Amino acid sequence: MMELKDKKILVVGLGKSGLASAIFLRKHGAQVTVSDVRSVEALANDLPALLDVGVMVEAGGHGLLTFRRQDWIVVSPGVPLDTPELAQARGFGTPVIGELELASRFLRGKILAITGSNGKTTTTALCGEIFRAAGRPTQVGGNIGLPVISLVSQSTDDGWNVLEVSSFQLETIVEFHPNIAVILNITPDHLDRHGSMQNYVAAKERIFANQTAEDFSVLNAESVESQPMAARTKARAFWFSARRPVRQGSFVDRDAIVWRASEQSAAEPVLPASEIPLKGEHNIENVLAAVCSAKLAGISNDVIRKAVAAFRAVEHRLEFVARLGGVEFYNDSKATNVDATMKAIASFPGGIHLILGGKDKNSDYTLLAPLLKERVRAVYTIGAAAEKIEGQIGGIVELVRCQTLERAVDQAASQAKSGEIVLLAPACSSFDQFENYEHRGQCFKQYVLARQGVEAWQNVSA
Ligand code: ADP
Repeated sequence: MMELKDKKILVVGLGKSGLASAIFLRKHGAQVTVSDVRSVEALANDLPALLDVGVMVEAGGHGLLTFRRQDWIVVSPGVPLDTPELAQARGFGTPVIGELELASRFLRGKILAITGSNGKTTTTALCGEIFRAAGRPTQVGGNIGLPVISLVSQSTDDGWNVLEVSSFQLETIVEFHPNIAVILNITPDHLDRHGSMQNYVAAKERIFANQTAEDFSVLNAESVESQPMAARTKARAFWFSARRPVRQGSFVDRDAIVWRASEQSAAEPVLPASEIPLKGEHNIENVLAAVCSAKLAGISNDVIRKAVAAFRAVEHRLEFVARLGGVEFYNDSKATNVDATMKAIASFPGGIHLILGGKDKNSDYTLLAPLLKERVRAVYTIGAAAEKIEGQIGGIVELVRCQTLERAVDQAASQAKSGEIVLLAPACSSFDQFENYEHRGQCFKQYVLARQGVEAWQNVSA
């Protein structure tokens, strides 16, 4: 465990995890400074909580001197590691870690950590439900909600910490050591920050870095990166696949989700696939990863089956919103990259009116072409990326330039016929027109639910 008393610690970036880290460190007797590039006004909400406990705050930029003579620097996931002040501090030999690493030095109990390009929140939430249903003392945190550092005080030696971890957090781990570590999938995302696909894959793979032969790595058998990773991990590798049987792990056998404990054992049924209450093959993969993790933690088939059946889509992840004149509306605002949008389209057989656009992340929208051709009636573009998207998919499908989400809902709702789908799965981040993807999803739901004749989800069995 790190000694914190009287240590000088700088927290860079005052996000949710930066705030929680600063307060934690101060409570444990460290001399804490927070530095953020945002203005005092922008940080105003968080300042009282910090100043009240004696944390110093530097707002409006990083002073070079602030970074000198610190015993530790705790960096928030939103702050690029090549920020010059950080690079210089590292040059002086100051250890730079992230909140996940800090928390893991103090967290008690076992860790199930889940990463991947898409499906982290869904799988983490599902694992949390299964572990709780099995009566394990369980805390769920990380990207999904409470920062991991906030789980420390309630953690117990016999409990489980089920953590959603991002590639940004994994970049700054040193000793973080999950008992079970899952990589759901790796598809291009955040390349603007990681620079290359290779760097992005390497960041994700760090989730296995400190595992030993006592631990388990859970990998997607359909992903090309998985085989070399399995060869490198020191942990025991288990697999999941929605398409074929695996040596050991979970897979789909005819209509059942099954579990095979080892190459020598027979597969045992865990639940019928028809009981999975989520749409799309990608969600079958999420369930398979959760089943694999739960089995590795020794949870019974019966408990898993009931917990999966009772699970509901997490808000903004292919969330059913309403039915109107036979048209169904789905909110997948969290589809902030091309792969997630492809998975959303693939979840419906056809007749899709798709809302695309927002802030571009250097993405290649031409990848959508085959699915657009096959299943999408029209694309309604919004936001800053509209022109790029139109340029890349023009001629493949009918395009309607809408600019705003409100107009897109209007247009799509009036063009869609009974039996068809209106889907917000924008393949872009939201920051051009919204505060975040949650805000975008809320607006979408609000526009849909305000339409006349709408049957809200409470009255509809989806
Ligand atoms: P994350 O936390 O990794 O962003 P979410 O569960 O929040 O994952 O889902 C993000 C987006 O990706 C949603 O649009 C969701 O419908 C889609 N998605 C969920 N699971 C997968 C998966 N296994 N593969 C691809 N896309 C997925």
